Amino acid sequence: MSNLLSLVVPVYYEAECIDQFIAETRVVLASLPIRHEFVFVDDGSDDDTVGKIRGHAETDQRIKLVELSYNQGKQAAVTAGISYARGDYILYMDPDLQDPPEEIPRFLAEIEKGYDLVFGIRRQKRDSLLNRVYSRLFWGTLNRFTGLQVPTGLAVMRIFNRAFADRFLEYREQNRFIEGIFMHIGMKRSVIEIEQRERFAGVSKFNFRRKMSLAFDAILDFSELPLRMSMRFGLGLSFGSLVAIVVILVMKMMHLDFRAGWPSLISALMFGFGMQLFFIGIAAVYIGRIYRETKSRPLYSIREVTNLDGPGKQSSG
Ligand code: UDP
Ligand code: MG
Repeated sequence: MSNLLSLVVPVYYEAECIDQFIAETRVVLASLPIRHEFVFVDDGSDDDTVGKIRGHAETDQRIKLVELSYNQGKQAAVTAGISYARGDYILYMDPDLQDPPEEIPRFLAEIEKGYDLVFGIRRQKRDSLLNRVYSRLFWGTLNRFTGLQVPTGLAVMRIFNRAFADRFLEYREQNRFIEGIFMHIGMKRSVIEIEQRERFAGVSKFNFRRKMSLAFDAILDFSELPLRMSMRFGLGLSFGSLVAIVVILVMKMMHLDFRAGWPSLISALMFGFGMQLFFIGIAAVYIGRIYRETKSRPLYSIREVTNLDGPGKQSSG
């Protein structure tokens, strides 16, 4: 029996993309000497996304659908998809066709050379200036903070083998930043450059706020640098005040004119208080995350599955 390729596809309000996505992808897959399955994960869309996929699933057993019971975020959807995928190779892509299906054979050829993970890199970015600036800032800061060295210009499309998928599923953290986990697994990886298209239909679900919150998550999940920085800052501030105290004492002893005043005193105190609250805040954010992790709730909640039996591999906490 030939190898199986699973396509894991998270969908959230993508009804307009589904038909085109399946049609184009099928043509490409038909030319490959490998069996395939689609594992769509609906992340709680309230449009015709599920209806469309179910329609295709009725006539094709290889089209599988996992429906999350409400919108749980792309990271949860992808995790669910990977846990249901049965393939020897798992290719992960979005249905908006920004990363074109024609690139699938190159991913397959590359992973068959013996890599565990093959990332796609965007050859040219078809993106607004603001988005490009954002992603430079995002990945730059992230790599600086975490030392993960995520390649720049990452595309969505990527492929990995069964061993890599199994390793991925061992990561049970609630706050999941998938790119970070992928880098953290650190098996043999390769990168290929791919073309980009415009989104086929619909709109991006990642507005500025969602992107910021993802950036925040990513840094907190893979770095303790904010904690260390606040410690260093506190230390620096204390040392500075110590020096100031010595200077004041010396001035007093030498009977130099030293005019002390309330305003400067109060503003210095306020500054100190403010900094304390800020740093306690940073620590509190980490504590909140520890709290969330200790509850070890399931990573996602499923309403229904189609053309699949039983729970996915390690589907709950
Ligand atoms: N997505 C999801 N859950 C969400 C938001 C997005 O599963 O809460 C999916 C969405 O359907 C798409 C992918 O994540 O397949 C990437 O989203 P999008 O294309 O909107 O983001 P962009 O490519 O603009 O970064
Ligand atoms: Mg997209």
